[in-house]
Amino acid sequence: MLSEEEAEEIRGKLLEQLGKLPEEQVKGLKKQIQGANAEQLEHMIKRQQPQGQQCIFCQIIHGEIETIKIYEDNDIFAVLDIFPASSGHLLVFPRQHYQKIEEIPENIFTKMFVFIKTIEPLLLKMTKASALNIFIAQGDDAGQKVPHFVINVIPRQEKDGISFEWQRQKVDKKKIEDLGNKLKKESEKIVRENIAEEREKHEKKKKAEDESEAEKISKHTKKRLP
Ligand SMILES: [Zn+2]
Repeated sequence: MLSEEEAEEIRGKLLEQLGKLPEEQVKGLKKQIQGANAEQLEHMIKRQQPQGQQCIFCQIIHGEIETIKIYEDNDIFAVLDIFPASSGHLLVFPRQHYQKIEEIPENIFTKMFVFIKTIEPLLLKMTKASALNIFIAQGDDAGQKVPHFVINVIPRQEKDGISFEWQRQKVDKKKIEDLGNKLKKESEKIVRENIAEEREKHEKKKKAEDESEAEKISKHTKKRLP
């Protein structure tokens, strides 16, 4: 979220740009910019990127493009792809404009996968699919077409012609071992720390919930006692 100072700066810049537009357009836009809060201003700025193109997922979230919405809450959004790889092709994405995995807060990442896990049996049943692929493209070279993180959930049938196969390469075993050792050594500390931190947060939250539940029960029981 933008700070008040940043919002003020953006507000100024947007108003400055208005000087280049026809008069009747300026009037409406001026009102919109002056009345916009930090969140709306952030959205306006993001819509100007990249290269003046609007992010299609942000447009979906803001109701500017009609879609077949399946689920939404404060953090995540799920729609059916209207140009699907197969019937029931589901797009699950964060409400905030994050481009890459590492930008996404853990709780939102978890929520997307809990949503997928929850809806999976139903999706398989309704599309009469026997399997599914969960697919993420990160970066241009991996085929990420929109700079907004999205998880593709693609229901699959036997011999449906969709391909996720690749040519297996023969590489020097020593090279893989070297990379493996280096990666393990360099990542071990940060991975352990990060995962331990998540576990700790989860345990704290659960403990607090258990305590409040126990308190409720004890209050309830006390009331009923003479
Ligand atoms: Zn976006």
